[in-house]
Amino acid sequence: MEARSEDGTQIEDVSALARLIAGSSRIVAFTGAGMSTESGIPDFRSPGGIWDRYAPIQYADFLASAEARKETWRRGLQTYPVVAAAEPNPAHLALVELERRGQLLGVVTQNIDGLHIQAGHEPDRVIEVHGNAHGVKCLMCDVEATRDVVHARVIAGEEEPPCVDCGGILKPTTVSFGEPMPRRPLGRAEVLMRQCDLVLVVGSTLVVYPAAGLPEVGVRSGARLAIVNMTPTPLDDLAAVVVHGRAGEILPRAVAQAADDS
Ligand code: NAD
Repeated sequence: MEARSEDGTQIEDVSALARLIAGSSRIVAFTGAGMSTESGIPDFRSPGGIWDRYAPIQYADFLASAEARKETWRRGLQTYPVVAAAEPNPAHLALVELERRGQLLGVVTQNIDGLHIQAGHEPDRVIEVHGNAHGVKCLMCDVEATRDVVHARVIAGEEEPPCVDCGGILKPTTVSFGEPMPRRPLGRAEVLMRQCDLVLVVGSTLVVYPAAGLPEVGVRSGARLAIVNMTPTPLDDLAAVVVHGRAGEILPRAVAQAADDS
């Protein structure tokens, strides 16, 4: 029988992940919502996740409908305080440790919570391909504001607060469903994927495209693939190591063990 730790993870899997990390000098982490569930931010697809409560608001609807924009701000009042109060968890800190050891090229994240940068990475190493929840931008004049300032206006009674400079539509600086991905972060992420020797996927179902296609770019360029996720993903067959379990328990153990292995 396989040896298992308290959380049910096979110890052999974590050891194999540690050996892979120890043998890699250009690691790129690719992270999704599962990275931050242990910081108290629910993911989208797990039971009890965000989709159990809210259907997504499509970008086209946000542009076309004042009601969709009002609903965006109403939801924001419910969901953003959770993100704003969250703190990095041990999985975020394990990736910072890899950067400190000089083994991490960067982090490509689908997350909009800002926790990788808050954990202590050099900000330039973190690429947020779906944007960031802490900001707001005018779609007409590009002027920026913080989420807190705009939420204060909503609480004060403006259901759909316009841009104070030009009267245009304000939108959180996250990428909505159906919204074109910003080209610069996606391009930078592709470059990192081509340069790395290990793609370390953490907490992603790998089904939200085009971002989910990025690990495949790394694999096609010769990088090995490791996946840490609670549930199976479509890329498991391509991976050198798959560890099913909680990122906040597995990553710190693997990173600590990698230091002993190298
Ligand atoms: P997802 O919700 O589709 O999948 C999350 C995956 O993480 C699941 O497969 C789940 O089994 C796994 N998981 C959950 N908790 C875990 C844990 N503790 N350890 C390891 N694995 C765990 O998320 P996704 O694939 O990243 O894509 C959904 C989109 O939702 C993303 O584009 C992202 O922008 C957005 N999102 C972001 C946040 C955030 O910023 N924290 C939260 C929810 C959704």
